[in-house]
Amino acid sequence: MHTQQSLVFASGNPGKIAELNDLLKPLGYAVQPQSDFGVQPVDETATTFVENALLKAREATRVSGLPAIADDSGLEVDALNGAPGLYSARFAQMHNAGQGDADNNALLLQKLAGLSADERRARFRSVVVLLRHELDPSPIICEGHWEGVIMEAAEGDGGFGYDPIFRNADTGTAAATLDKATKNRLSHRGKAVAALISYLAKHPLPTPQ
Ligand code: IMP
Repeated sequence: MHTQQSLVFASGNPGKIAELNDLLKPLGYAVQPQSDFGVQPVDETATTFVENALLKAREATRVSGLPAIADDSGLEVDALNGAPGLYSARFAQMHNAGQGDADNNALLLQKLAGLSADERRARFRSVVVLLRHELDPSPIICEGHWEGVIMEAAEGDGGFGYDPIFRNADTGTAAATLDKATKNRLSHRGKAVAALISYLAKHPLPTPQ
């Protein structure tokens, strides 16, 4: 009989875990949240998405003893030299301009006021990593990006974060107007996860003894 191999996901986001489970189940993997193993969230102290994802995955595999997946993502705006970048979740807070998605969006619109569409170019980036164990010297690192522009006003009420002000280049509409399946197919995170799935399909993890 085929047994499922457990993987731990270094996040508490139930939506992301459900999505990963749907995709990895057919390959024989069951994804569990890190809270099932008493893993505490780590401080994301690194300066790149990939290093932050590795910090999270390393702690999750260290504590759980299972292979661990982690992700990190953010929005890069060309006119702001790649900001908010690593600090996307805390953009407004860092500028003493409030806290949360609505304040982040308001601050970004304010910072880009008066710029042309060409100058408002931006992209979401996502890094998804898998560490087979704490001392894994060659983590699987998968990346995805999603090109677009920052709009002049919010549109749509789906998604989260910067979705209402990000006009993606694929559909020409705000990410917040897309249904979940369409966003997952086009988005930075969708692409990074797809790369991980296709890696695991070709290179299954060794079955634990
Ligand atoms: P995290 O990697 O899930 O912690 O995301 C970091 C931050 O980047 C989020 O809090 C959002 O502000 C932003 N972000 C990442 N992915 C998306 C997305 O798909 N839509 C909108 N905002 C996003």
